[in-house]
Amino acid sequence: MSVLVYVENAEGKFKKSIFEVVSYAKAIAKQMNTSLIAISIGNVASSELENLGKYGVEKVLNVTNDKLKSFINQAYASVIAEAAKKEAANVVVLSNSFSGKGLAPRIGVKLEAAVADGAIELPTTDGKFIVKKTAFSNKAFAMVEMNSENKVISLTPNSHKVVEDGTPATIEEFNSENKDSDFKVIIKEIVRATDKVSLPDAELVVSAGRGLKGPENWGMIEELANLLGAATACSKPVSDADWRPHSEHVGQTGIAISPNLYIAIGISGAIQHLAGVSSSKVIVVINKDPEAPFFKVADYGIVGDAFEVVPKMIEAVKAL
Ligand code: FAD
Repeated sequence: MSVLVYVENAEGKFKKSIFEVVSYAKAIAKQMNTSLIAISIGNVASSELENLGKYGVEKVLNVTNDKLKSFINQAYASVIAEAAKKEAANVVVLSNSFSGKGLAPRIGVKLEAAVADGAIELPTTDGKFIVKKTAFSNKAFAMVEMNSENKVISLTPNSHKVVEDGTPATIEEFNSENKDSDFKVIIKEIVRATDKVSLPDAELVVSAGRGLKGPENWGMIEELANLLGAATACSKPVSDADWRPHSEHVGQTGIAISPNLYIAIGISGAIQHLAGVSSSKVIVVINKDPEAPFFKVADYGIVGDAFEVVPKMIEAVKAL
């Protein structure tokens, strides 16, 4: 018995969300009194792989097959499931990232496992294996009881602390036995749309809505975000009007995020918008209308005109 964690990389590097996933998987391994094994697919430097030991990984299975250079859902799911069988891992943990969302159910089918996607807490330890996750676009929580022997859990980014716990991991090459049918879809090239902080993984997000009046006024939003090292986001009408790209739209019909800090500027706080952002750790709202619904869920609120408040914030951050 063991716990297997899939450590996805971005161009050979691990993002902070992966250390969260590893720390979360380590905590589960400790609950089960068993070891934690990681699987990495793609070219990651051995120093990076060994470093996973710092977060509790004992052994890393390293898959460097050229055919698996780019992410292919079906093929990656086969490799991870094969590794889980080889290591007798009955719990597989991964991030509920863009790729994790596609992988978790596929691995679940291959291992005949129960799947809990978007977990936000550790499983209970009172005999039953129950995982808390968000449901209905973050409007509710679901407690998922996982009764099958094998389990797949994907963790919502920013919901578990990174914990350092261990010494360098050992690395073992893992040669998977992929079938041709795993490669029906092949990604030839990935072109990065932007060099900016990626919204789903961002710890800090500066977001703006229709209160900004037009796309020409986003300079101050970008400037504040750059100074803070934050990602930018927006409300739906803003992306519908093409003021901002659709990739920035957060909410029920957009991306759901849970950063440590969400700054909402000129956004009313409609329920559909809150559905995607209400699990942010700290919410700061800037709105000129004191009755704006967003203030009801804000940790800090500034009643004021964005065109006066935001430049003052920029000056304040620059002065730090
Ligand atoms: P508005 O509602 O126009 O609010 C603008 C706010 O800016 C107001 O509160 C105003 O007081 C404030 N303001 C104006 N000027 C200033 C100023 N100078 N300084 C400071 N504040 C100012 N919306 C989403 O965002 N995400 C979704 O995923 C989403 N999904 C939806 C799904 C469905 C099925 C439906 C029906 C709607 C959905 N919507 C979604 C739309 C949602 O209902 C709201 O219409 C939308 O969120 C409003 O966007 P807004 O707050 O930017 O604009």
